[in-house]
Amino acid sequence: MQSSPICSVGVAHILKRKLLDILACPICKYYPLDLFVFEEKDEIVEGLMTCTKCGRWYPIIDEIPHMLPDELRDGKDDLPFMKRWRDRFPVKTLKEGKPFNDKDL
Ligand SMILES: [Zn+2]
Repeated sequence: MQSSPICSVGVAHILKRKLLDILACPICKYYPLDLFVFEEKDEIVEGLMTCTKCGRWYPIIDEIPHMLPDELRDGKDDLPFMKRWRDRFPVKTLKEGKPFNDKDL
């Protein structure tokens, strides 16, 4: 009996998702974060992680999760990201998300 071939891209992809699964919120340490994938190639290119406990959100831009505390966040990076994907943002995050939401747009 022959085992079915495993696609290496597929495995890397699953691992990446698993990795995101174990990232905790840098502010309140809540885990796991919710993951929304906006654009995907072999990896998650653009996406969003949200913390259901403190309401913060963290962008994934160019495959890199930006997990920064509020004081290091810069609206000039985060707000264009929110604007670009606002139709795909969960409504709660768009309205009440921290540290930025649609009132800052
Ligand atoms: Zn949190």
